[in-house]
Amino acid sequence: MAALDDLPPLREVIAAHGLAARRSLGQNFLLDLNLTRRIARAAGSLHDHTIIEIGPGPGGLTRALLLEGAAHVVAIERDERCLPALEQISAAAPGRLTIIPGDALAVDMAALVSGPARIAANLPYNVATPLLVRWLETEPWPPFFASMTLMFQREVAERIAAPSGGKAFGRLAVLSQWRTEPEILFDIAPRAFVPAPKVTSSVVHFTPRAQPLPCDTQALERVTQAAFGQRRKMLRSSLQSLKLDTAALLDAAGIDPTERAERLDIADFCRLARLLP
Ligand code: SAM
Repeated sequence: MAALDDLPPLREVIAAHGLAARRSLGQNFLLDLNLTRRIARAAGSLHDHTIIEIGPGPGGLTRALLLEGAAHVVAIERDERCLPALEQISAAAPGRLTIIPGDALAVDMAALVSGPARIAANLPYNVATPLLVRWLETEPWPPFFASMTLMFQREVAERIAAPSGGKAFGRLAVLSQWRTEPEILFDIAPRAFVPAPKVTSSVVHFTPRAQPLPCDTQALERVTQAAFGQRRKMLRSSLQSLKLDTAALLDAAGIDPTERAERLDIADFCRLARLLP
């Protein structure tokens, strides 16, 4: 049985298992172990956590997480072609890798872990945002994970971390920053992937806030959907889709009705959400 260090290079693994990348599964593989180890280290302490990884593919980040000392990795992969390659890694790290075949969107991740956990993934771009929203909407909060370290297309990373007042500030920024402190750590150039995507990627680290401002998730969603659904309009117009007395709502929240959504901050949105019936 090979040790982790002795596993064949990922290029060979991909060739041996016929893992031609499929666009429909958002497959862009990272083959450089120095890079995947850098992402693994960015996740924080690993030896005392279970790491949930979405989309391990041929296992570049999975290997890195194990080599960097992760106590246990639970990896959810939809593409059955990748499973034999992942089994090889599991054999090289006995008892430290659990492979879960299937769609990550259909898995109850909280039920997979009993102790401290982190999430780390090079996410498939086609399900990256739905997965992130699901994690951010986890109940109860603080969630079952101590952090999330996730790779996105840079444009999505910028929307997550956008400050109030800018063009990128929208629903994703409000939800992300309400419940976590997101930080863009570093970029990864297209050439690092096989096949190379068209755009640059960014690694974002999310630290859950212990005590986010009190606010109901669904109410916050309703408010941000209305406000940013017509982001160029003044709030007195855009919020009319809530079918409430908009003037009274804005007055009660102490918000100028002629403001636009992107000029509000997280506390403003939470105040509005708390005032919804
Ligand atoms: N982690 C690998 C790496 O860094 O090289 C692969 C990353 S690739 C961007 C995304 C991976 O997610 C692919 O292996 C793909 O098969 C898998 N995937 C796509 N949709 C998925 C889903 N709904 N649930 C679980 N895995 C999925």
